[in-house]
Amino acid sequence: DPVGERFEYQAEVSRLMDLIVHSLYSNKEVFLRELISNASDALDKLRFLSVTNPDLMKEAVDLEIRIQTDKDNGIITITDTGIGMTRQELVDCLGTIAQSGTAKFLKAVKESNEAGAESNLIGQFGVGFYSAFLVSSRVTVSTKSPKSDKQYVWEGKADDGSYTIREETDPEKLIPRGTQITLYLKHDDKAFAHPEKIQNLVKNYSQFVSFPIYTWQEKGFTKEVDEDPSEEKKEGNEDVQTEKKKKTKKVVERYWDWELTNETKPIWLRNPKDVTTEEYNEFYKNTFKEYLDPLASSHFTTEGEVEFRSILFVPALSPAGRGDDIVNPKTRNIRLYVKRVFISDEFDGELFPRYLSFVKGIVDSNDLPLNVSREILQESRIIRIMRKRLVRKAFDMILGISLSENRDDYDKFWENFGKHLKLGCMEDHPNHKRIAPLLRFFSSHSEQELISLDEYVENMKPEQKDIYYIAADSLTSAKNTPFLERLLEKEYEVLFLVDPIDEVAITNLKSYKEKNFVDISKEDLDLGDRNEEKEKEIKQEFGQMCDWIKKRLGDKVASVQISNRLSTSPCVLVSGKFGWSANMERLMKAQTI
Ligand code: ADP
Ligand code: MG
Repeated sequence: DPVGERFEYQAEVSRLMDLIVHSLYSNKEVFLRELISNASDALDKLRFLSVTNPDLMKEAVDLEIRIQTDKDNGIITITDTGIGMTRQELVDCLGTIAQSGTAKFLKAVKESNEAGAESNLIGQFGVGFYSAFLVSSRVTVSTKSPKSDKQYVWEGKADDGSYTIREETDPEKLIPRGTQITLYLKHDDKAFAHPEKIQNLVKNYSQFVSFPIYTWQEKGFTKEVDEDPSEEKKEGNEDVQTEKKKKTKKVVERYWDWELTNETKPIWLRNPKDVTTEEYNEFYKNTFKEYLDPLASSHFTTEGEVEFRSILFVPALSPAGRGDDIVNPKTRNIRLYVKRVFISDEFDGELFPRYLSFVKGIVDSNDLPLNVSREILQESRIIRIMRKRLVRKAFDMILGISLSENRDDYDKFWENFGKHLKLGCMEDHPNHKRIAPLLRFFSSHSEQELISLDEYVENMKPEQKDIYYIAADSLTSAKNTPFLERLLEKEYEVLFLVDPIDEVAITNLKSYKEKNFVDISKEDLDLGDRNEEKEKEIKQEFGQMCDWIKKRLGDKVASVQISNRLSTSPCVLVSGKFGWSANMERLMKAQTI
């Protein structure tokens, strides 16, 4: 082929930046979360690199983040004592959109194969920094890397395709190490530079960042001072009586100071009694980047053979929503820590079986080595014991939702994760007794509201031995099946299995509370009320007719028999005892098309 002339794409960088930032962030206030997570990443990087290069920490300053506001001028300053940036790093990191220094760092660390490095690095995409322009007209980044003896200032404006870098020369502005970002807020966004606003944002979005975040707050204390005699004279005509009695008055002295605004002790190390639901919810939303509160949580410590602490959550929504979701065991739903150090969230069924992979949470163990690898995880006896305990706790938590006074909660759970539990019936026989009480079905007595198997069993007639079900493609066809007639006459309840996976799940369970599941469409349905005398009579009367019908239908049916299971319909087509039910047959057909 002839080679054409090559062109580079042209782009208006400032427009592109604007587009990226505004489409990624629908909510302006996240700018603070992004900048704090960059600061936290920078502190993490420093801590990690200084293990092998202690020189990086030679400036004896604490690892921390400080945020100061100037509400009169609409300025916010965020300062960290992290790894900082050299001049070249400023160009590379802040001068290239969508190129993330954090991603590069991660890659380098992975290549050098050092364990534990991935700890908590939030940034991955390389656009977080630009969210500063959601609220700022101008941003400066003054930064000092321990690898350089100079401090540099990056400066950029909104709607401008360029930026400047200069050396910091003002001795007042020199910092020992780290980065100071100054936001000059747009006119309409000046309200963000309010100390209380910042405090709320930190509590909302960055409560569980693992370095202390201090905010600059106005404080006050009351003290008693002697009443000023000149004042007394001025106010003399107001209230003469009290004036005479009081010789001192209380005044509020105002001053400004740094205040620790986040919680740096991991929430799972606290006593569950001292943690509020709101705190669990915030922790959950922060850690898993969720916007809805969880349906339930469970915070526990196990002792004995293996010791660990854990908080588990049931999300409010399954990631695939209501549709036919695929169960994905490779979620990043469980974060494993060893002695409070984040190890990994990449599991593939080691800590939870596939069907429970929707459960989110953290697990912190003191018994695993810090350099635990995937191979170790897969082989570990400790992990196997942990898995068993975690699964039990997850079931307790789900059972808790089902026992909640608010029936809506479990309805929500069931709508999102019912399929997962049915899958559990197929994949986890040892846990059948935990899964079965959590299942829900419609029935001939309850077409609007789902019932549990316990409710079914409570409603059983005294002489009824089995749990009856019919599988169908819809509630309407389940309701109208002629198989129901005799059972309804006897007021036996029949479960309506209308989800394709229902029948497979029930066949796997086989029984519940020693009562067998019985398909009412199968050939040998015995309702325990046979009258042998009468059957004999009828057989004699209609036997020849059956033979005749069988002859006429030939191979289309396996046999034609006299049935005692109908009351008003003249005949019914049933499946053989060992064959597929009509429903299964339909499913199998659907799959081969
Ligand atoms: P991300 O965090 O996804 O990597 P950002 O746009 O948020 O992308 O930041 C870009 C890069 O700029 C970071 O990866 C990091 O290398 C650098 N950076 C940003 N803020 C800081 C900071 N406070 N200290 C040191 N480096 C920083
Ligand atoms: Mg970032």
